[in-house]
Amino acid sequence: QAHLDRIAAVDGDVHAFLHINEHALDAAADIDRRRAAGESLGELAGVPLAIKDVLVTTDQPSTSGSRILEGYRSPFDATVVARARAAGLVGIGKTNMDEFAMGSSTEHSAYGPTHNPWDLDRIPGGSGGGSAAAVAAFEAPIALGSDTGGSIRQPAHVTGTVGIKPTYGGVSRYGAIALASSLDQVGPVSRTVLDAGLLHDVIGGHDPKDSTSLPDAWPSFAEAAREGATGQVLKGLKVGVIKELPDSGFQAGVASSFHAALKQMEAQGAEIVEISAPHFEYGVAAYYLILPAEASSNLAKFDSVRFGLRVTPDGGGTVEDVMSLTREVGFGPEVKRRIILGTYALSAGYYDAYYGSAQKVRTLIQQDFDAAFAQVDVIATPSAPTTAFKLGEKIDDPLQMYLNDLTTIPANLAGVPGISIPSGLAEEDGLPVGIQFLAPAREDARLYRVGAALE
Ligand code: GLN
Repeated sequence: QAHLDRIAAVDGDVHAFLHINEHALDAAADIDRRRAAGESLGELAGVPLAIKDVLVTTDQPSTSGSRILEGYRSPFDATVVARARAAGLVGIGKTNMDEFAMGSSTEHSAYGPTHNPWDLDRIPGGSGGGSAAAVAAFEAPIALGSDTGGSIRQPAHVTGTVGIKPTYGGVSRYGAIALASSLDQVGPVSRTVLDAGLLHDVIGGHDPKDSTSLPDAWPSFAEAAREGATGQVLKGLKVGVIKELPDSGFQAGVASSFHAALKQMEAQGAEIVEISAPHFEYGVAAYYLILPAEASSNLAKFDSVRFGLRVTPDGGGTVEDVMSLTREVGFGPEVKRRIILGTYALSAGYYDAYYGSAQKVRTLIQQDFDAAFAQVDVIATPSAPTTAFKLGEKIDDPLQMYLNDLTTIPANLAGVPGISIPSGLAEEDGLPVGIQFLAPAREDARLYRVGAALE
């Protein structure tokens, strides 16, 4: 009830939510009953959970921020939603996002932008700006996001929250409306590293319904966060800093907050090691070919027949007329831009030059990570180049928007896990800044240890 009251008080300004779950209080009462009946419930039982609208839910609509899914109700729950429900978390609502998770500001939502609770004139990051803003504004204690190129970590950076992109295959994608299947991962958004670990423990692990789900047994990430909180883990930890990412690429306050965090780590016994990741800087270019290619294929299913919206031309028309009008009306401009880019990159005659080259760059970036992790335990970067920019500032300049993802994209291309944790406020504008840590695939627990040590 306290969270519903908070939503009623602030969400008119923040607009983190697209939908509030009208059954939330009943679900909470049910948890109380189960507890009273002596059932042993997990640590998160009864805790409200905000759910990014990219995740399908049976009890609430799922639009992925798009008009084309207006009115759509899924007949099944995403695995992460089902697992959260089984653990007693109460879905409090569905959060706003850039349409089909394409964007870095939540301004591409078909349902209007979300505002950053730190400054309502600024963006909350994207694509998961709704989940991050809900957590930052105390509308929800914890949230689910999805990260294809940074959509959990960059919103965490600009809202002073914690966001984790797990190892590819560590968390089920079943029921996460696909953007780019080889890059998408679901993960937690929270105010503390421990909270993220608790949620990760609930949602993670093998899922036979996702063919790319890893069969691994995972350690407890909450336990890793609790171990990390002692600070001992920083002793002797080798932290790689990428020499090809000079300070000049970052807002001054972002760079200085980054260096202050490294100093703090050094003071606690960490060793800062300069490493080379020469292909890191080509990540954005490769990503913006691979992502549109996969997205153009994934979005082909929105054909007016199977899901959501159907728009029929005045006076009728053929099936093809209905399909194309529905897609014309149902998709926003950024989605159309990427479908066109993707189909172009995949078309005969251009495939090798664009998609094929991008895949080669992807391999080179993976090799950069392999070489780096032979020398260091984690890599540190600023989570994004700037603090929260003004709403409207980059909306007409897609290339500027894409450059936000400079430091987050490589982790998706390589499948490795990444965390963004708050590292203070930038001196020039007083806005939150995040520091990102990357670890080798399957070493998510290391990120929880390091993140908790710095909190
Ligand atoms: N900003 C990136 C993009 O626009 C990130 C998307 C994501 O992680 N879903 O593609």
